[in-house]
Amino acid sequence: MTTNDSLNVRRQAATPRGVATATTVFAERAENAELWDVEGRRFIDFAGGIGVLNTGHRNPLVMQRVNEQLDRFTHTAYQVVPYEPYVELAERLNALAPGNTPKKTLFVTSGAEAIENAIKIARAHTGRPGVIAFSGGFHGRTHMTMGLTGKVVPYKKGFGPFPGEIYHLPFPMPAHGVTVDDTFKAMDRLFKADIDPARVAAIVIEPVQGEGGFHIAPTELLQRLRTLCDEHGIVLIADEVQSGFGRTGKLFAVEHAGIEPDIITTAKSLAGGFPLAGVIGKADIMDAPEPGGLGGTYGGSPIGCAAALGVLQAIEEGKLLERSTEMGKRMIARINRIAARNDVLPIGDIRGLGAMVAFELVKAPGSMEPDPDAAKALCARALENGLLLLSCGVYANVIRILVPLTAEDNVLEEGLGMLEKSLSDLAVGRVAAE
Ligand code: PLP
Repeated sequence: MTTNDSLNVRRQAATPRGVATATTVFAERAENAELWDVEGRRFIDFAGGIGVLNTGHRNPLVMQRVNEQLDRFTHTAYQVVPYEPYVELAERLNALAPGNTPKKTLFVTSGAEAIENAIKIARAHTGRPGVIAFSGGFHGRTHMTMGLTGKVVPYKKGFGPFPGEIYHLPFPMPAHGVTVDDTFKAMDRLFKADIDPARVAAIVIEPVQGEGGFHIAPTELLQRLRTLCDEHGIVLIADEVQSGFGRTGKLFAVEHAGIEPDIITTAKSLAGGFPLAGVIGKADIMDAPEPGGLGGTYGGSPIGCAAALGVLQAIEEGKLLERSTEMGKRMIARINRIAARNDVLPIGDIRGLGAMVAFELVKAPGSMEPDPDAAKALCARALENGLLLLSCGVYANVIRILVPLTAEDNVLEEGLGMLEKSLSDLAVGRVAAE
């Protein structure tokens, strides 16, 4: 029988250590919020392929569209022979994106590629070089997106130099004493000390930081950024790669703040497990690059576009935006109850927007001191207990939940039970070690 151990030996010999894996188990099959490994063990999936599976593994509506498309054709290259699913998906997203300004959408293959293209488009539109991003932000692993990313280890270490004209500002974190005013003070200083706002093409922000620790951009921040961008002709880009597609109770998290970004980047749950990303933007901005300046061989693959149309149907028919809000409330209430116990690992700030929920592990009850070792141990213990769980955060001490929004109530509760047990197992272990 193929075992996880034997596959891990082959993995280590055949693939570079840079592609680190969060777990030691190999997938055999998966359905909705459950996954089975090659040894037949069942896991509840709170990782969702890092936010890709808001509609679950192998959602029937997604699979149906994909199978129909597979029977017709798999690839023509949109730039050679275009096809309807690309255009239909663009029309749907243009209509669904926040705000009344007419929109156009470009499809590419990964989240990083979406950001790369958003920057290209913003520079072509403004004729300016500068880009402002935020500390703790994550935008991908290509050179431009590494440069924009505000976390050094493991994303940037050893990979520089990065493209020039990238600047970082503090991201507000109320629980850690960083306010919206602090961000704007840093912005003032940036405009005085480093770059004239008239040379800034774009500001890129995650409405809820993903890898950075699920910090939620305050409404005031997004609204003030909108005003500032309007004042200076700067393109405001909302990176919704992780926060989008229903995760926060809205199709796009930025809708909570009631603003219309100039460009939205989307990927991950857009196509429910198939590689597709999109750049949705105001039509006049999107049309700035010359014909032929955008695209890519696989960009907007017909399979990905078909899958995304199935995802939209699943979100609508399953009322998944309402479901996301309800799941989020339920998860936060349960984590608060767990945190109140005095026989579990110490939990610090608990936060969430819809079902984009996270909590911090800290050194002691009531302290804010991050405990990355506890987060690592918790994910390992959760795996032993049958739960796929991910950490994140600049200090690697945040536990994030990206469970499919389609997870059945009993599966969600079972997963939360496994989380609680893991937090308590480790606390018992700690007491025993003392
Ligand atoms: N932007 C955000 C907010 C992300 O969370 C990610 C991936 O985690 C990316 C961009 C990069 O996406 P991809 O890994 O598909 O290139």
